[in-house]
Amino acid sequence: MSFDTLGLSADILRAISEQGYDQPTPIQRKAIPVVLDGRDVLAGAQTGTGKTAGFTLPLLQRLGSCAPKGGGRAVRALVLTPTRELAAQVGDSVKTYGRHLPLRSAVIFGGVKINPQIDKLRRGVDILVATPGRLLDHVSQRTVDLSKVEILVLDEADRMLDMGFIHDIRKIMALLPDNTARQTLLFSATFSNEIKQLANRLLNNPELIEVARRNTTAERIEQRIHPVDKQRKRELLSHLIGAGDWRQVLVFTRTKHGANRLAEQLGKDGLTAAAIHGNKSQGARTRALAGFKSGAVRVLVATDIAARGLDIDQLPHVVNYELPNVPEDYVHRIGRTGRAGNEGEAISLVCVDELKLLRDIERLLKREIPKVTLDGYEPDPAIKAEPIRNGRGGSSARQGDGRGKGGPKRAGGGRRKSAQATAKGQHRHGRPGGGARKKAV
Ligand code: AMP
Repeated sequence: MSFDTLGLSADILRAISEQGYDQPTPIQRKAIPVVLDGRDVLAGAQTGTGKTAGFTLPLLQRLGSCAPKGGGRAVRALVLTPTRELAAQVGDSVKTYGRHLPLRSAVIFGGVKINPQIDKLRRGVDILVATPGRLLDHVSQRTVDLSKVEILVLDEADRMLDMGFIHDIRKIMALLPDNTARQTLLFSATFSNEIKQLANRLLNNPELIEVARRNTTAERIEQRIHPVDKQRKRELLSHLIGAGDWRQVLVFTRTKHGANRLAEQLGKDGLTAAAIHGNKSQGARTRALAGFKSGAVRVLVATDIAARGLDIDQLPHVVNYELPNVPEDYVHRIGRTGRAGNEGEAISLVCVDELKLLRDIERLLKREIPKVTLDGYEPDPAIKAEPIRNGRGGSSARQGDGRGKGGPKRAGGGRRKSAQATAKGQHRHGRPGGGARKKAV
């Protein structure tokens, strides 16, 4: 199936082909015609499924094909995102896909100066991508007019609620035309009761679109648990990166302090690493991300909030250095890899203290994640681990078949092999990395 059959205009199709996309992803196939029809949408879609284009393409088309209601320079489409990084990414997509249309867009988020944003809003913006807090700052300064919003998008709505944005969202809703006078699109990776309640309040007879089973992890992600003592995690991580020759790995820690400390320790191990979390300035976050995307930074250590919505092309490896407290975060974290048809590997280093968290995650996923003990890093006896067989532990955890879908890029294949070879190597040589290893400090 090609994009031509979805009802998109020539200008938008041109931008899509300039991006090199040949086929719509499942969420795009389902969402684009419905949004073009003017219907409200409640979409369950993981990150990495192409959901951004799924709402941005028809949104651009709708705005491009009719004149603003009542004239003036009020905002016509508002996209709310939970994090600054996601806002920036969605803003980039709006610019890319709308490059042949005479529509103006802006991205506003906190942590940067407000005045350039005010200037931009004053000059007139059709599509505004914003995080809730900074948007409300503009509202209180009367520098933005939301009374003529025709299309509202809530992206990663579940995370917005997790981050405590419900009050901000309510305040923003009160400033918009009511739900019969606007079109509303709500995207969420998971559907909790809170999300359902929010959807009931905001959406008007929505079309329900789901492309992956609820609360499941994306296809094509191979998951594995490495049971290990807490104090040896850093050593094991450095070993996995070095021996597997991982060039780009996103590592999650639970705390900001933990992220800083780990990035520093990995630096001492000779790996270029940077930390990204909520206490870092926006400049530092942007630099760390740019370094990671360009390959200058090999390991990006992140907390959940900072990593939400990061879109890194062909990211092959995600490591949970610590399991998240909230099981749904596991799904979000590992969704950073295996995006847009690529394959990915998600490894969790789990110590005995985290067994309950692991059980909660497996309950949510409704299956066990294979556990692989690496020689030299024997697990705490409390953790039941499968021994490595033929260089691999247990069965693959990848879901679905996902083969032959012919995504535009395929990443990780070679790297995955080397990771497997690592396990083989460890098995053959007995001790990973060879030689005696001292305990990490
Ligand atoms: P998203 O889930 O919106 O964050 O998108 C994930 C990645 O998929 C982004 O890097 C997009 O550029 C890419 N992408 C979106 N749609 C397509 C498509 N139809 N074909 C290939 N790649 C796509």
